[in-house]
Amino acid sequence: MSSDSHKPHVMFFPFMGYGHMIPTLDMAKLFSSRGAKSTIITTPLNAKILQKPIHTFKNLNPSLKLEIQIIDFPCVQLGLPEGCENPDFFTSSNNTDERNTMMLKFFASMSFFKDQIEKILETTRPSCLIADMFFPWATEAAEKFNVPRLVFHGTGYFSLCSEYCIRSMHKPQKMCETFKVSDLPGDIMMTQGQMRDLDEETEMGKFFIEVIESEVKSSGVVVNSFYELEPEYADFYKSNVVTRAWHIGPLSVHNRGFEEKAKRGKKASIDEVECLKWLNSKRQDSVIYVSFGSVAYIKNEQLIEIAAGLEACGASFIWVVRKSGENTDEEEEEDQEWLPEGFEERVKGRGMIIRGWAPQVMILDHQATGVFVTHCGWNSVLEGVAAGLPMVTWPVGAEQFYNEILVTQVLRTGVSVGTKKHASMGDFISRENVEKAVREVLAGEEAEERRSRAKKLAEMAKAAVEEGGSSYNDLSSFIEEFSS
Ligand code: UDP
Repeated sequence: MSSDSHKPHVMFFPFMGYGHMIPTLDMAKLFSSRGAKSTIITTPLNAKILQKPIHTFKNLNPSLKLEIQIIDFPCVQLGLPEGCENPDFFTSSNNTDERNTMMLKFFASMSFFKDQIEKILETTRPSCLIADMFFPWATEAAEKFNVPRLVFHGTGYFSLCSEYCIRSMHKPQKMCETFKVSDLPGDIMMTQGQMRDLDEETEMGKFFIEVIESEVKSSGVVVNSFYELEPEYADFYKSNVVTRAWHIGPLSVHNRGFEEKAKRGKKASIDEVECLKWLNSKRQDSVIYVSFGSVAYIKNEQLIEIAAGLEACGASFIWVVRKSGENTDEEEEEDQEWLPEGFEERVKGRGMIIRGWAPQVMILDHQATGVFVTHCGWNSVLEGVAAGLPMVTWPVGAEQFYNEILVTQVLRTGVSVGTKKHASMGDFISRENVEKAVREVLAGEEAEERRSRAKKLAEMAKAAVEEGGSSYNDLSSFIEEFSS
């Protein structure tokens, strides 16, 4: 028998948003590089997105096994527009009702994949299935064929523990405007507006209950984090919330070469080499990088305040705005709705706007980048941690407020811009507050201590994934467990 037959065949089934597909691809590459066979299951248009980086990976590592298995996604039949295989298709629409309706339809269509996944599991019999939290039915589907199902949430221990503790609290306790999260280590204070809406009466609330139930019945959870980042919460999660959990992150640090760092997710809307040259011309730790991830919708009134705040702070910046990169007349007209007149002329040489998609990890890892203004999506937070960056935290939805608390209260490497509630409830930050938070992190009173704490965390992150590190070891035990 060849030694290959002892290595596990790990199947990955990511949710189709970039914030889930990007770390899943990193995870699949990592498992392959540790000897496993990895297969990512996804739909035709999403497969196209993954094909190029997989090709690059396989060119660099011809002996490693990483494949894509394509499943059908008949969007029209499911009530979605043709080709709507990724939330990116509708999340930049400026019509709020349309965005919400489409998001609900998109989530509802996720159960359509059940039969196809069952068929694949029946015929392939992989060693395990790492399926996204957004597929709660996957635990039972895998059980039918004796395949262990692992859950991937795409977030860290702190937010998982926060959500668990908030759920367990009695309603009146959490109805106060500011409350202490019972049982959660670290005396964490939270406000009503920061909580994720888990009202059991709403569609989303019901859905999250299914997610929790399927997690409890699953074989465990794979976490993109590292022990040293949030030790108390890793311990709490493992002893109170789930039967098993393995932390194997930060996943993004395995992208070491230019190609891998610069080409993640969508095609970048700027020339990566030009961007690198621009960064090379800047002083160390002097550039502010501003991004709200791949889903968040920021209203024009808010974009204008960000522009004004960045202009007033006087520092160099790269600002990613999720608008189409095509320079059509229509786009130029639209620009006028969110950019103060003459802005680009005035910040020429020190400010760069990327309309669309940025090579984020390449920018964060550059020595000229000194501050990360982030919406606190977990991938972004971890990428910022791995790059040793202090942050301005600006959560807008999902579990991002919990991630903000980790950064500002626990790690103390960030300053909040001051958002009090989910953007859907109408939070707004003035240009003065944008400027104030950025100045504080760039060169304020505690800036040096904050930066030095952030740099230490980056060293810990790198050590965690090296041979013998905490994430390396957790991955070894995972592979060993599922190899037989
Ligand atoms: N990203 C990127 N370029 C962009 C926007 C996002 O490379 O212009 C990547 C980012 O590096 C991260 C992911 O997309 O890996 C976004 O995930 P995150 O959890 O931060 O936020 P989400 O998009 O899910 O809200």
